[in-house]
Amino acid sequence: MGNAGNGEHGYRHGLQELGHGCFGYMQPDGSWGWSNAGLVVGDGASLLVDTLFDLKLTAQMLATMGPITSTAPIATLVNTHANGDHCYGNQLVERAEIIASAATAHEMAEVPPSMMAALNRAPGEVGEMFRSFFGAFDFDGIDVAMPTRTFEHRLDLDIGGREVQLIEVGPAHTAGDTIAYVPDARTVFTGDILFIGGTPIVWAGPLDNWVAACDLMLGLDIETVVPGHGPVTDKRGIVEVRDYLAFVDREAGERQAAGMDAWDAARELAAAVGAREDFRGWGEFGRIAVNVETVYRHRDPSHRTPDVIEQFRRMAMLESGPGSPGPGH
Ligand SMILES: [Zn+2]
Repeated sequence: MGNAGNGEHGYRHGLQELGHGCFGYMQPDGSWGWSNAGLVVGDGASLLVDTLFDLKLTAQMLATMGPITSTAPIATLVNTHANGDHCYGNQLVERAEIIASAATAHEMAEVPPSMMAALNRAPGEVGEMFRSFFGAFDFDGIDVAMPTRTFEHRLDLDIGGREVQLIEVGPAHTAGDTIAYVPDARTVFTGDILFIGGTPIVWAGPLDNWVAACDLMLGLDIETVVPGHGPVTDKRGIVEVRDYLAFVDREAGERQAAGMDAWDAARELAAAVGAREDFRGWGEFGRIAVNVETVYRHRDPSHRTPDVIEQFRRMAMLESGPGSPGPGH
């Protein structure tokens, strides 16, 4: 199975010490909504990288971090991107400066938790499908605390005497993805620029910009890589994601050039991915449907991508359909 999880660290729920005052807060199995967060501890101050999808999960995480943050309070929170599983808990981090790229801050207002709450309660087929992805989460009472400081390209922070570099590498997964690099720990928190053991989903793209983000990370002096979803990894995990994106970009592009319909191309590529030793066994392989749409849209601006409900329907169909190429997850 192509899964570059770093066995040294395992993959268990909760706070995981990575050394050099860095921690990952891990949420197996890393599928839809089960994101990771990070903590960088300096002298008398900490940096939190992302909050979680709902208030209960975030409160539990902050309580777990309590013994550390009682002496090194969270002075800064960075949101790597605008998806709710990385920012919906913001309101529980009190008195912290909240930093995001300008593109992320703009995007954070677009999918209000009230919309997620309504979909989670929706009757009929749409509600049922939505709950199959997000039914485990509680979107009530969320009033997303917005960034109080934004940046573009690059921002260097001093966290209790330690340097943390925020590097904007989007648009890729979303319109404004940021990674947090801690040079003295040789550690990077990637947000959803990396999914490990699960399939990357390219909502924004272009794919070659995400490949460039992987190349940028491969050029950093790092030994520990904390993905947005899945187990802690190292540069091998970055290479796997890079290879997948390059493969999809090339294969979808060829099918588009040959005049193939995007949904037909997605079904063909789901089978092709399932046949590849290096990608076989990744969860959420139905995300190929979204990824192919994104390739088509960038190569042909007149291409119309179906609405997000239809995209979720297609992902569900690929993963449950007869002759489904994946091994299940
Ligand atoms: Zn995520």
